[in-house]
Amino acid sequence: MTAISTCPCDANNDYQNCCGRYHAGAAANTPQALMRARYSAFVRHNIEFIQASTLPAQQAQLDMEAIRQWSQNSQWLGLEVIAENIQPDQRHATVEFIAHWQDAQGRHQHQETSVFIKPADCWYFYDPNVPLTAERNAPCPCGSALKFKKCCASYL
Ligand SMILES: [Zn+2]
Ligand SMILES: [Zn+2]
Repeated sequence: MTAISTCPCDANNDYQNCCGRYHAGAAANTPQALMRARYSAFVRHNIEFIQASTLPAQQAQLDMEAIRQWSQNSQWLGLEVIAENIQPDQRHATVEFIAHWQDAQGRHQHQETSVFIKPADCWYFYDPNVPLTAERNAPCPCGSALKFKKCCASYL
């Protein structure tokens, strides 16, 4: 691998100055930056980053082998971020995007609106396959110090 390489999320950006920073451990300061870093992690088969950037309360329930296979069996063609919408509480956000990839069945494009949550000082991806449920007055399972009803229950 050469020292200078194009970032998978943006052909006009250098990997080391774009998603590479987050893969090296810097906290993504916006949901969009984390969305891009997760896409680039799929492209680079960095499954550990996919797990680490998922909401900590959900990490143990991820199917890591399925994620690894999807990453490795797809040829990733590009990411378009369409919209980033951060809620007034600055803890919940959505990012709308289109991902392009190719596999044995042909070319695909997938449009999705993903949810991102910031329980304390950094953003995480909320995996909709692992729902967060709790009593409304119980501590929010996302790990914030707030009650569930004042935190993720108002947005998910
Ligand atoms: Zn990037
Ligand atoms: Zn929460």
